[in-house]
Amino acid sequence: MKIPVEVFFMDDRSTNIQTGLVPKMLTVFDAAGLGEIIEKGDLVAVKLHMGEWNTTSYIRPVYARAICDKIKELGGKPFITDTTTLPYYPYASRTTAYDYLKTAERNGFSSATMGCPIIIADGFFGNDDVLIDLPEGNYLKEQYIGAAIAHADAMIVLTHFKGHPLGVFGGAIKNMGVGCASKRGKHNLHLARDYNVGWNVAPYNPQLCMGKQCPKSNICENLCPVDAIEITEDSLIWHQDKCIGCLNHIFPTSECGAFLSLGMADLLETSCVAIADSALAAQKAVGKDKIGYINLALDISPWCDCVMWADRPLIPNLGVFASKDMVAIDMACLDMARESDIIAGSVAEMKALSSGIEKFSAAGALIGSSEMIQVNAAAMNGGGSREYKLKKVNPVSGDEVSQFLIDPMPVSQKIKKYYQKQMIVPKTFKRAEKIDLTKYRHREASE
Ligand code: SF4
Repeated sequence: MKIPVEVFFMDDRSTNIQTGLVPKMLTVFDAAGLGEIIEKGDLVAVKLHMGEWNTTSYIRPVYARAICDKIKELGGKPFITDTTTLPYYPYASRTTAYDYLKTAERNGFSSATMGCPIIIADGFFGNDDVLIDLPEGNYLKEQYIGAAIAHADAMIVLTHFKGHPLGVFGGAIKNMGVGCASKRGKHNLHLARDYNVGWNVAPYNPQLCMGKQCPKSNICENLCPVDAIEITEDSLIWHQDKCIGCLNHIFPTSECGAFLSLGMADLLETSCVAIADSALAAQKAVGKDKIGYINLALDISPWCDCVMWADRPLIPNLGVFASKDMVAIDMACLDMARESDIIAGSVAEMKALSSGIEKFSAAGALIGSSEMIQVNAAAMNGGGSREYKLKKVNPVSGDEVSQFLIDPMPVSQKIKKYYQKQMIVPKTFKRAEKIDLTKYRHREASE
């Protein structure tokens, strides 16, 4: 019988210093023994998604900064990292390292705020990578991983757990599989030039396209970086032999249905399997025993942070998770999400979901694929275990709390001398003699 992998968890409720979410993240980091993977002098990648332009539910910079500080305390040398993306959206903001660094800075991530370098792992245009042989892969038999990640001594994978239009859900496996793959690795996992199930043979519906009569036709005319889409007077022609699977046409054309349809289920679901294979490649590149995982299951939107918006969360915050196993940690999050109630007014309510129903299978994907594909494929290729034991962690107490303070010296001691030098509170301030609070307390109060 398999021994279940431990996944450490604290919920999102907070009432004092040690139960704030940053302290809880650091507490589960310690409980899961993630410090053990970092040796003195290790160059430690902190892998996270720094958010698309104007999206809002990505991981707040304070979490990443706290992890970097922790790594330094342990003697490691952290750097924040992610990779360039495909141009999967007409106005995507992270397709080159130049754009990504501008976006990251606007979102609050810079060497100044993180206290360490930010390195786009696959270089300026995504071809600075290392080829990993993958005979164990379910579908991918090789994969390209960003060089800065492949060359790191250790890695903390800091993940925002949420839905995802193509991956169905985004967790640790996706942060590894998509996030560590270079741009050409992303072309690989999204099945470019795949004549089996990929874009080059995908079914499409030209009869649904109005061609140049469509008010949005100018968008579609300029979508394809390799001119594989030709808009005609009343329809379109897809030159699939030219397609490199960059995904840029997917979102704009999802409204008319010319491309995206149930007929693409094999393609999209094979991509989920390929994400798990790519995650294994990232794991092999760094070393399975040199990677720790933290999932922040907060702001659980149906969309990924790869789009320029964030919808109302599907379910309430779950909390923070930590583990040394990417499959176990995602499985624990999925199980808890399945059992969770939904948030009123969210897509989960529109789809009449409730406790006990797989939320992401129903509300996180473009075509309703199963949220289990990624975890099953990652377990089958040896990337981790679906069997886990959830261990609830108690907040730290006593002297350990001081690790969460800006400075263990009480603030009163620090500022006493300033009050002594200049008493900034006068003997009295000018105020009314009395206040009648009853007139402020009611909704009907007269102005
Ligand atoms: S046709 Fe292929 S290459 Fe062109 S935008 Fe679509 S996915 Fe990209």
